[in-house]
Amino acid sequence: MIPKNNQKTILKLLAGHIPTANPTLHYSNPFELLVAVMLSAQCTDRRVNIITARLFTQYRTPRDFAALEQKNLAEEIRDCGLYRNKSRHIIETSRILLDKFGGLVPHNLEDLESLPGVGRKTANVVLSVAFGIPAFPVDTHIFRVTRRLGLSNGKNPLLVEQDLTRLIPPSELGIWHHRLIHFGRSTCTARKPDCDNCVVRLYCPSRISL
Ligand code: SF4
Repeated sequence: MIPKNNQKTILKLLAGHIPTANPTLHYSNPFELLVAVMLSAQCTDRRVNIITARLFTQYRTPRDFAALEQKNLAEEIRDCGLYRNKSRHIIETSRILLDKFGGLVPHNLEDLESLPGVGRKTANVVLSVAFGIPAFPVDTHIFRVTRRLGLSNGKNPLLVEQDLTRLIPPSELGIWHHRLIHFGRSTCTARKPDCDNCVVRLYCPSRISL
């Protein structure tokens, strides 16, 4: 990892460069967000939004999804890939929400992670975005960007999450989650990072050129 002072300078520059950043998935309640995040595995948010715009006009609640046949839901979400597993997990999760949680999405990590198809990242997104609870989901963009920048040298998402939650105050974790994803999509992309035009290039140990 790079020295603490440089980490703080990088965060300051990024915050100035990307003052606001919002979730890109469309949803109108915690359950819709949970379903949207489950659909987003290995799929773009843009495609998920197209699917959910159609899906959520027909099915809105855990009860609606719990009553679906897997093959019918799989057909509805076919365009987002992994549709067999995703449809099975969404229906099973909906049934568990009805049986164990009164039809509501729980707002603690342990209960969320107990749901089929809900890993730590998805659970943290729901906590942070739907409930405003301090949490730091580490997706592929955040994992790549934070390691390139030397904000973490964690070898897995959990270690990166631990490093970043030590570095960023709890009240700012939500905005930093969106900010770093935005930065990873717009500048520090996986295949072709735009180092020449990057606002933190002078402090980045991974820059390709100046
Ligand atoms: S300088 Fe390049 S590698 Fe470093 S954060 Fe910027 S775009 Fe990414």
